[in-house]
Amino acid sequence: MNELAKRKPKDILFLDNLTIEWQDGSVSRLPFFALRDGCPCAACVDEVTGKKTLDPASIPKDIHIIRAEYVGNYALRIHWSDHHNTGIYTFRMLRQMAELATAAKSNDMVP
Ligand SMILES: [Zn+2]
Repeated sequence: MNELAKRKPKDILFLDNLTIEWQDGSVSRLPFFALRDGCPCAACVDEVTGKKTLDPASIPKDIHIIRAEYVGNYALRIHWSDHHNTGIYTFRMLRQMAELATAAKSNDMVP
């Protein structure tokens, strides 16, 4: 992970997914559902064991972002349509999630 990944993105959009344009010009697109499912807060992940406690079935299928705000220069706090707003997504984490999603997609294309 290079230094750029930790920096505040150039631009953030949320319409059909969360689209982040990074300082190096690369763009990450993260589906809302996957992002909500990956919420790192204490209500969704056990702080002690690191085990996920959030049941994906409890997430509305039409989950979307109401608003998002920067937390310092390192993270994004997302306010979800299901009133969940304690998740702080670091830029590093968002970038890793996007890279994993891309990797999963290219794996699918392998016959
Ligand atoms: Zn959460």
